[in-house]
Amino acid sequence: MGELAFIMSHKVNGVSALHSDLVKQNLFPELHRLHPGRIVNQTNGVTPRRWLRMANKPLAGLITDTIGAGWEADLDRLRELEPHVEDAGFRAAFAVAKRVNKVELSNWAGAELGVKISPDALFDVQIKRIHEYKRQLLNILETIAHWNKIRANPKGPWVPRVRIFGGKAAPGYAVAKEIICLINDVAGVVNSDPVTGDLLKIIYPPNYNVSMAERVIPASDLSEQISTAGKEASGTGNMKFMMNGAPTIGTLDGANVEILAEVGAENFFLFGLTAAEVTRRREDPDHSKKAIEASQPLQDVLQMIAEGRFNPEEPERYHGLVHRVWHHDYFLVAADFAAYHAAQGEVDVAYADPSRWWRMAALNTARSGFFSSDRTIRSYMDEIWQATSAL
Ligand SMILES: *Cc1c(COP(=O)(O)O)cnc(C)c1O
Repeated sequence: MGELAFIMSHKVNGVSALHSDLVKQNLFPELHRLHPGRIVNQTNGVTPRRWLRMANKPLAGLITDTIGAGWEADLDRLRELEPHVEDAGFRAAFAVAKRVNKVELSNWAGAELGVKISPDALFDVQIKRIHEYKRQLLNILETIAHWNKIRANPKGPWVPRVRIFGGKAAPGYAVAKEIICLINDVAGVVNSDPVTGDLLKIIYPPNYNVSMAERVIPASDLSEQISTAGKEASGTGNMKFMMNGAPTIGTLDGANVEILAEVGAENFFLFGLTAAEVTRRREDPDHSKKAIEASQPLQDVLQMIAEGRFNPEEPERYHGLVHRVWHHDYFLVAADFAAYHAAQGEVDVAYADPSRWWRMAALNTARSGFFSSDRTIRSYMDEIWQATSAL
């Protein structure tokens, strides 16, 4: 179907710089040689009217008060916020806007889910369709490792966290549904643990959709974009979080590459194998076994799941899942675990330093102008449609 679509098309868009190269080199190398110039890159964008002005009125108000009106239709103007990030008063106002949204989300979670979450915790969010390549499994395994660390030293200087998941699985995708089930089983045990209390909560509100995204993204502190490198064509959720002042923890995949280039490495928690390294690592049939044997925290987590620690009523529930991580780990969950665990530690260090954190958060917003869909559409007009603007 892809080849038919290619030969019938005027242009083929790779939707991010990295994926456009992969489409040329790995997906359609022969058709690319036959039709050089047909594959183009128009990096995706999101509309700042919906994802910033409508969804996040506290932050939109602060931006207008700081740089004046009109930025919604000229998003590069957000760069005018940059000098203000050195101003402690501006950073405090940015933090207040975020907190207003977090209080609203906390109240909603209390009413809708019956789980109490503290707006003082770091809201760590992964909302997107459930897929093995997006690696919600990596996130929940690391959450368990973090829980173990807190339990071993409950009086330690922990940054309180809420791990927020959202997303639907396709109807026939049994492995994805198993991951949803695991996250909910882990949440049930962790949320009722008196030892960890408000230091760690997990919520998974049902029926993730755009309305929920508009509620959750403005209240997010950390954006989880942790796909196996080479698998996420672009992502657009990553752009919505950046606009709303949530730094990314993520891999070099899709538009994360361009987000990293815009925001700077000091404002992005990068980890994991690159797309080229992923391809090479898969050539070793024992890659996951080796990675698990090299990481005691990961071994402990897999052992707990295998023993039914989160589902004593049916302890064998995840035997298949654990077996696949050990022996058929196509998406490199085990290989990236240790790097992800370390990067999460870096997030805690940064969050514990408010002047550093709010500088990072505000710079994410200030440098997100490139990800306006207005830029994407103007570029389509110039390079694909040869259309001129009526405005
Ligand atoms: C933005 C959005 C997506 C895309 O999210 P990714 O993280 O890029 O996969 C999916 N679903 C909803 C409801 C969204 O708003």
